[in-house]
Amino acid sequence: MPNFYDTHAHLDFPDYADDLPKVIERAQAAGITKIICIGTDLASSGRAIQLAETFPGVFAAVGWHPCHASEAPEDLRPALRDLARHPKVVALGETGLDYYHLPGKEAGASPADEERHKQKQSAIFRQQLEVAADLGLNCVIHQRAALEDVLAQMQPFAGRVRGVFHCFVDDATAMQRIVAMGSLISFTGIVTFKNAQNIRDVVAVTPLDQLMLETDCPYLAPMPYRGKRCEPAYVKEISEVVAGVKQCSLEDLSRVTCATAERFFTKWS
Ligand SMILES: [Zn+2]
Repeated sequence: MPNFYDTHAHLDFPDYADDLPKVIERAQAAGITKIICIGTDLASSGRAIQLAETFPGVFAAVGWHPCHASEAPEDLRPALRDLARHPKVVALGETGLDYYHLPGKEAGASPADEERHKQKQSAIFRQQLEVAADLGLNCVIHQRAALEDVLAQMQPFAGRVRGVFHCFVDDATAMQRIVAMGSLISFTGIVTFKNAQNIRDVVAVTPLDQLMLETDCPYLAPMPYRGKRCEPAYVKEISEVVAGVKQCSLEDLSRVTCATAERFFTKWS
């Protein structure tokens, strides 16, 4: 059976509180041999490390999600550095910029509030890039409606920190710009959705060795589980669609995507 990795999972979320060992067993049975649990703030990052200590196939990324930027301390770096030194921490993140989920007018936010929120996102993104550069790690990037600013913030770190633009739903031009700067993209179960032909078109033109697979569970369960709780085992369904679009065998997709992940998450070897 060809093996795959789930490079983006939120196993520390309460959705798995009752049955996580079973979720991980099902992943192993489906050939998903490595799972990266992605932190969204310091507490979540700590939980991701605990899970990595408990389950041999689970690894952790530590970071602070842009959508929670307003709750972040002014200087995240000391705490993140401590967490990131753990032997099973393989990346920083998820981090990045999200201008889609900014606190809106409905929430009583003024343009000045929005600007402050953007500034805070930018500050903690820069801090995570700095820690990544210091420790020789790469970053898991969350980007929504903010591609230009994300690319601009990563530019000074070119050659030191690479990003994986997770849950990629942008167009081929964006993919090419990301790949040109040495970063990668990863695809979720969205590729299996009937109405996502535009995403499958991007899969078709993405170089096979510049992409990774992920679930972003508990979100975005692929067909035929769409709408249900997602879990790492479903990388299997994602891999079948991606192999179909790339017109390659599951064995080739397994070999190439796992090698890409091994190079990107540098502490694996
Ligand atoms: Zn995520």
